[in-house]
Amino acid sequence: MIARLHASLTLKLFLASFVSTHLPLFAALAYYGFNQHLDPLTTVGLLLAATVAGTVLCLGSLWFLLHPLRQLRLAVTRFRESRIVCELRSKRRDEIGLIINTFTSLTTELSRTITTLEHQATSDVVTGLRNRRWLIDNAAAVISRARREQTKLSVISMDIDHFKSINDRFGHDAGDRALMTTGAVVQACLRPYDLAARIGGEEFAVLLPGCDKTSAAEIANRIRADLETATVLPNGTRLTASFGVYEADASSDTLSTMLKAADANLYRAKRAGRNRVIGSAAETQPKRKETLVNSSKGQRMAPGE
Ligand code: GH3
Ligand code: MG
Ligand code: MG
Repeated sequence: MIARLHASLTLKLFLASFVSTHLPLFAALAYYGFNQHLDPLTTVGLLLAATVAGTVLCLGSLWFLLHPLRQLRLAVTRFRESRIVCELRSKRRDEIGLIINTFTSLTTELSRTITTLEHQATSDVVTGLRNRRWLIDNAAAVISRARREQTKLSVISMDIDHFKSINDRFGHDAGDRALMTTGAVVQACLRPYDLAARIGGEEFAVLLPGCDKTSAAEIANRIRADLETATVLPNGTRLTASFGVYEADASSDTLSTMLKAADANLYRAKRAGRNRVIGSAAETQPKRKETLVNSSKGQRMAPGE
């Protein structure tokens, strides 16, 4: 019976209600049992006191028995609004204990699954970098922070050179390995708060908060040089990439306009012979005063020089 009472909220509620509603009766019977000559005033006082005690007992046990439901309500709201898992655990073996413990394990599991799915939906399995969707989702916050704090913001657009011929000559697997190495090289050259993503087949973009075009070009050049020395392709064939760098005007640029400007520089780098970095800043963009940062020797020159 005690075990059944422990395991059943219904029985607990029945018991609490029964005891508290019958408390005046129990008190009257007990009083009558000890004292056959009832004093009306004492009887009324006793019944009143027993009714108050019964009411307090009833409300107190309801509050105690249903208290975890209020905590559960808060936990549900917090999980729905901000996906915070409240570690609610109950030692109770009744329905409420079961619901609370199940809720906690389900939300913990759900939260882990959502995190994994979010990571999978925003990551690129080949390179280990993030994907275009993630960059789009996160760029707006980075641009508005640069605007608010009036700090520099640059973007690098990068495209592996002659990648089609790498696939054609060495096979798709070698192409994938080259992409993997590129991802690792890009990641190794960046700071933890830079945003790097594979935004197309063999195209990458990197957002660099706090970097002007000169520092961004240096970073791009470091990636370019490290990629060139990474031995991934057979016969000593070098893996190279071309880079377009653009320093944004955070007050007017969006990710799309930044990438467009960086791509324009990237295609100049391709036309200028590949395996090089070309950069420009927002204010110099219309006049096309881009800087060519070459590459193997790292020296700077104007286009055509
Ligand atoms: P360019 O120097 O002008 O950039 O020439 P490219 O050959 O690199 O550029 P193109 O756009 O002609 O070819 C890109 C190739 O990238 C074509 C496509 O088969 C290959 N590619 C795209 N995604 C993947 C991938 O995930 N794995 C592999 N192995 N190849 C890919
Ligand atoms: Mg390419
Ligand atoms: Mg391409």
